[in-house]
Amino acid sequence: MLTLERVTIVGVGLIGGSLGIALKKHANIGEIVGVGRSIDNLRKAIFYQAIDRFTTDLAVEVGRSDVVVVAVPVRACEQIFEIIATGDYEKTIVTDVGSVKSNVVESARRAFALEYRLFVPGHPIAGREHSSIDAAVEGLFEGMHTILTPDSNTDEKAVRIVQQIWESVGAKVEFMDLDMHDLILGAASHIPHLLAFSLVNWILDGEQTEECFKFAASGFYDFTRIASSDPVMWRDICMTNPDVLVKHIDTFIETLQSMRSAISASDEQELERKFATSKQTRDLQLERFLARLNSK
Ligand code: NAP
Repeated sequence: MLTLERVTIVGVGLIGGSLGIALKKHANIGEIVGVGRSIDNLRKAIFYQAIDRFTTDLAVEVGRSDVVVVAVPVRACEQIFEIIATGDYEKTIVTDVGSVKSNVVESARRAFALEYRLFVPGHPIAGREHSSIDAAVEGLFEGMHTILTPDSNTDEKAVRIVQQIWESVGAKVEFMDLDMHDLILGAASHIPHLLAFSLVNWILDGEQTEECFKFAASGFYDFTRIASSDPVMWRDICMTNPDVLVKHIDTFIETLQSMRSAISASDEQELERKFATSKQTRDLQLERFLARLNSK
């Protein structure tokens, strides 16, 4: 069992809180300390057994922790790294959970000394449309991937410990180059969220809005579930992965345009072929995804 003296979680919300709850159940951590801005939130985190105690003074806690997990919105990471860098951080492993990696890694490079090699960038590919400690659950990471994006300079032992943290809560760890991470997650996660937000807004700004919402049923709510996600978090993700997202949006528009062309040309064979390809692919990929979850 993974054994560490002290882990500090900065940002005890959905991801930080779920990690704390799961670590307390599945790892041997002497103490889990929560850091945040809201005392009410941190008190709740103790109540939900995500942390053992809390502090608002991160810099003091850094030198006493084996690992500091930064679980705040992506654009808040830089400020947190700067605070960590004012503490005694040279021997402490720092990792994050941000949904975009290149921007977070740049922030870490700016904040930490050149010789510091204990920053291990990470991203659990698990989440929900609800944020905050109230949405945190123990099993959030079970069977799901966590991607780590260390480079050749990152300390191997630090990588191993962060890997063990995620494996202890049931995640499958994969390693990836950080630009590749942003490209792939741009397509697999960020674009689907943009489409869900856009669909709701498209109906809102369109005609017969009330009637459209009145008659929207499970298909609409399946598709737009993730449009209930936190606007600040998604603002940050889009603002920190702009080049990838603009390219993905352009190619997505081409795909939608090709659907439009088939419909306007009454090309029923082409339309059916596109739908059949999509159905076959989705059914197969869903089967693989569920098999992975069930194999945990
Ligand atoms: P969350 O539930 O809103 O929790 C974030 C926590 O960070 C809050 O509890 C808040 O605590 C703290 N925080 C918020 N803004 C801050 C700021 N400006 N400065 C310092 N602390 C701040 O969000 P989450 O869903 O856990 O997301 C956290 C990170 O995980 C993000 O980087 C996100 O990209 C990543 N992620 C999210 C998901 C997902 O599906 N939600 C999945 C994978 C990765 P206080 O108010 O107490 O400070």
